[in-house]
Amino acid sequence: MEVYKFGGASVKDAGGVRNLAKIILKRRQSGLLIVISAMGKITNKLEELNNAYLNGQDDVQQIFEEVKSFHFDILHDLFPDDQHPIYNDIVNSFVEIDWLLEEDPDDAADYIYDQIVSIGEIVSTKIAAAFLAESGCNVIWVDARNFIHTDNTYREAQVNWEKTEQEIQKNLLPILENSIAVTQGFIGSTSENFTTTLGRDGSDYSAAIFASCLNASSVTIWKDVPGVLNADPKWFDETERIPQLSYHDAIELAYYGATIIHPKTIKPIQNKNIPLFVRSFLQPDAEGTDITGANNHLPVPSFIFKVNQALISIFPKDFSFIIEENLSDIFSLFHKHKVKINTMLNSAISFSVSFNHDAKKLHALIADLSLHYKVKYNTGLELVTIRYYNQQTIDRVTINKNILLEVKSRNTCQIVMRDKTGIE
Ligand code: ASP
Ligand code: MG
Repeated sequence: MEVYKFGGASVKDAGGVRNLAKIILKRRQSGLLIVISAMGKITNKLEELNNAYLNGQDDVQQIFEEVKSFHFDILHDLFPDDQHPIYNDIVNSFVEIDWLLEEDPDDAADYIYDQIVSIGEIVSTKIAAAFLAESGCNVIWVDARNFIHTDNTYREAQVNWEKTEQEIQKNLLPILENSIAVTQGFIGSTSENFTTTLGRDGSDYSAAIFASCLNASSVTIWKDVPGVLNADPKWFDETERIPQLSYHDAIELAYYGATIIHPKTIKPIQNKNIPLFVRSFLQPDAEGTDITGANNHLPVPSFIFKVNQALISIFPKDFSFIIEENLSDIFSLFHKHKVKINTMLNSAISFSVSFNHDAKKLHALIADLSLHYKVKYNTGLELVTIRYYNQQTIDRVTINKNILLEVKSRNTCQIVMRDKTGIE
C-alpha cells in the first residue's frame, strides 16, 4: 500500500494532470491512494473570494467566475467531448458555493472559510480522477471527509485519530485492494458532517494521516524540485540536494520553515516507521530525497530564510527582572492573538520574540502587552535558521547585515537581522 501526494504546482494546468496520469500509469494499478491539493494557486483565489464575500464586496461573483473558468479551461483541454459527465459533476460542485454566496454571511467567519476554500480540492480531485479513468486507470474518487474526522476548529481542525483510523481501516482499505483511489488533501469533516480544513498547505499532512492509518509501505510527495535541498533556490544560487534525511532533521527543517514539507507531516509516519520519498514530478525517475528513521546527519549545513519578520522586545514597566510569572502572562497573550513564535530569547530584563509580521495582529498584541509591559518593536526583518551551523555559514549569511538577535542551540542557529542601510 502506497500513498502519493500531488500539490497544487503539479496540477496547475491540463499538462500537469496529464503528467500525473503518466506517472501513475507507469507505476501502479491498485494499492495506491493519491492525495491531491487544489490546482495551482486556486486556494489563494478562494481565500480572496471568501474575503470578498465576508466584506460584502461587489466583485464576489466576478472572482467566483474566475475560479470556475480556470477549471473549465482545464476541463476543455482534457475532455474534448463536452458531453462527458465530468462537466456536470463540476458544475454541481460549484453550485454548493453558489448557494452559500447567495445568503448573507451570518455564520462564523472561519466556518465559512472552510466551506468555500475546500471546493478547490473537491474539484481538482474530481478532474484528476476522471482523467485517470479516461486514461484507463481503475480509479475511484473518494471523499476525504468520510475518512478524516476532526473537531470543529475551523481553518485549523484537529484530527480525531481514533475515529479516522477506524473508518480508513474499515472502508478505505478494501477499496484499495483492487483499485487506485484519488482523494483530497487539506480537508476533513466534523462529527456533524461540516467541512473543515487542516491549515494552509495541509495536504502533506493529509497524506501522512492516510498513510499512517493505512499502515502504508511508503509516502511519496511529488514536487517541482528534485528533492529536499539544503536551501531554497530563491535565496541561494548554489543549493545541494540531500539524498538521505532523518525524520528528526526533516522535522527540524520543516519546523523552522523549510517549505518543502508541512511540519505536521513527519510525526505520524515516523511513529509507524513509514519512509517518506520526495520526488520530482518533472523527472519522476530521478532520485530525490528519502526521509527515513536512519540516523544520518545532514551532509551539509541547511539554511532556511524567512522574510517579513517582526521582532518585539518586552520589558517589565518597573525595570524589574523578567520572571516566570511574566513569561506565562506573555505566552498567553501570544496564544490569544494567534501569533506563532519563530525565535525567542530571554534576558534578565527583557524577553524578545520574532514572528511573521501581520500588522493587525502585531498592533493588537502590542496593545495588550502594553498594559503591563514596555514594548519595543522592529519590522521588515529577516530570519535565517542554519541547521548544523559553523562560523563560516554564519558569516556567509550575515554579510552586510545588522544582527538584532542570535539564538544558538547545539545544532541550530537562528539569526534575526536586517540589511545595513549605510547610515549606521
Ligand atoms: N490547497 C491547500 C493550500 O494551498 C492545501 C495544500 O496545498 O496543501 O493551502
Ligand atoms: Mg496548495
